[in-house]
Amino acid sequence: MPSIYKNFINGEWVESASGKTFENRNPANKDEIIGLFQKSNAEDVNRAVESAKSSAEMWRKFPAPKRAEILYRVAEMLIKKKEDFARDMTREMGKVLKETGGDVQEAIDMTYYVAGEGRRLFGDTTPSELPNKFCMSVRIPVGVVAAITPWNFPMAIPSWKIAPALVTGNTVIFKPASDTPLSAVNFVKLFEDAGLPKGVLNMVTGTGTEVGEPLILHKDIKLVSFTGSSDVGRFVATDCAHKMKRCSLEMGGKNAIIVMDDANLDLAIEGAIWGGFGTTGQRCTAASRVVVHKLKAKEFISKFSERAKALKCGDGLLPDTDVGPIINESQLNKVHDYTKTGKGEGAKLLIGGELCTDKGCEKGYFYKPTIFVDVDRNMRIAQEEIFGPTVSIITVGSLDEAIDVVNSIKYGLSSSIYTQDVNKAFVAMRDIYAGITYINSSTIGAEVHLPFGGVNQTGNGHREGGTTALDIFTEWKTLYIDYSGRLQKAQSIE
Ligand code: NAD
Repeated sequence: MPSIYKNFINGEWVESASGKTFENRNPANKDEIIGLFQKSNAEDVNRAVESAKSSAEMWRKFPAPKRAEILYRVAEMLIKKKEDFARDMTREMGKVLKETGGDVQEAIDMTYYVAGEGRRLFGDTTPSELPNKFCMSVRIPVGVVAAITPWNFPMAIPSWKIAPALVTGNTVIFKPASDTPLSAVNFVKLFEDAGLPKGVLNMVTGTGTEVGEPLILHKDIKLVSFTGSSDVGRFVATDCAHKMKRCSLEMGGKNAIIVMDDANLDLAIEGAIWGGFGTTGQRCTAASRVVVHKLKAKEFISKFSERAKALKCGDGLLPDTDVGPIINESQLNKVHDYTKTGKGEGAKLLIGGELCTDKGCEKGYFYKPTIFVDVDRNMRIAQEEIFGPTVSIITVGSLDEAIDVVNSIKYGLSSSIYTQDVNKAFVAMRDIYAGITYINSSTIGAEVHLPFGGVNQTGNGHREGGTTALDIFTEWKTLYIDYSGRLQKAQSIE
């Protein structure tokens, strides 16, 4: 009998009002049930919001350095649990162990980094235009926050939201993706163990429509911090706009690596393999396009496809696996549909393009690393987020053309250029329109203390990570202190 996991509301692990659960299965082996999780509904959401609301006043006044002490304890426990949590994560979502270890590590890094803010949370002081008057600005919490997250970074992304939300004095309702609820339970349990007061962090599992929507629409939610697809993000933004709520959106990507004629080709191939097929291409920052200079195209394509062909699909728990499964059946079908679309559009399928049925892959959602060449920049496979192990190679004749191709999409998250020419690197840094640009490195590798996010339909102007995350989770309050003992009017009004 699989384990049954509960919601976390008001400091207690409780069953859903629906009385129903849903299964979480291993995408590398459909027969393996990871656990049963609460199939929650609006009633559970209401309870969780009520709990977060009733502890908001206490938490807002809880000294920020003391809030941070709880986060430090969480980070320390995460270090001890890293290996176990990585294994659980690989079982529930498939990526290889060293990557799930990296996911947990990112949560450790973020929690430590943000805990440091407990003793900073700097505001500004500035002189007044009037005598005997003092001016400053401080950060105040937004209130009750909804954190809605995707499945591809089951602990890292929740940490990007929960840790900064808590240190800045907000209370939280966390709705994890239904494909990765175990990692969510593992993470939330640590806050309980670290002594977080009850009600400050709540978790409700369930679908986007049954839990996510009522959560967003709840009158007491002040901020929705969402990471996921641009399609769902658009709904979130619309709902929030109607209710005049703040929302921060981190959404899809269609990232590209430029390989110039002067590039260190071996390095570029390493980067393209990692960017294209790491996490089975299921990263918002995945390099699903490679824009290669025509003088290097033949050599690049030949070596890159040889390397990709040698990648081993399999269970991410096995040490020799390079590429884990796709998250679920519908995503597997979507990836395969894009293969058909690419062929139909006239691109040439060089390798892959089919389900992987190698030994050990029979019971999972495995797809072979796939490369298309002769891709036109306007084809759907070059424009749309596939979220699988599919790379489109586009050949260009100049740096300007390469940058134009990189920019010719509706997204704008990550980008990269391989070149040995400092002038070309600086032109790329200036002219690529994206949230992140790497030089001589893949499109992957964000560090928690720098802003993370994208332009166009990848985001709505916010940046997680870095100190910019604080702008999501706080409001600015300006304070004027007049100690003149008389009415003083600004703007020289007598
Ligand atoms: P998704 O949009 O399907 O789901 C994301 C979350 O939203 C899940 O928790 C889901 O249950 C919830 N949701 C779904 N419908 C909802 C609704 N109507 N109302 C409220 N919540 C709802 O995304 P996914 O498949 O879980 O994740 C993959 C996507 O996430 C990709 O597009 C990827 O690029 C993106 N992503 C972006 C970033 C980033 O930082 N930019 C990071 C990781 C993933």
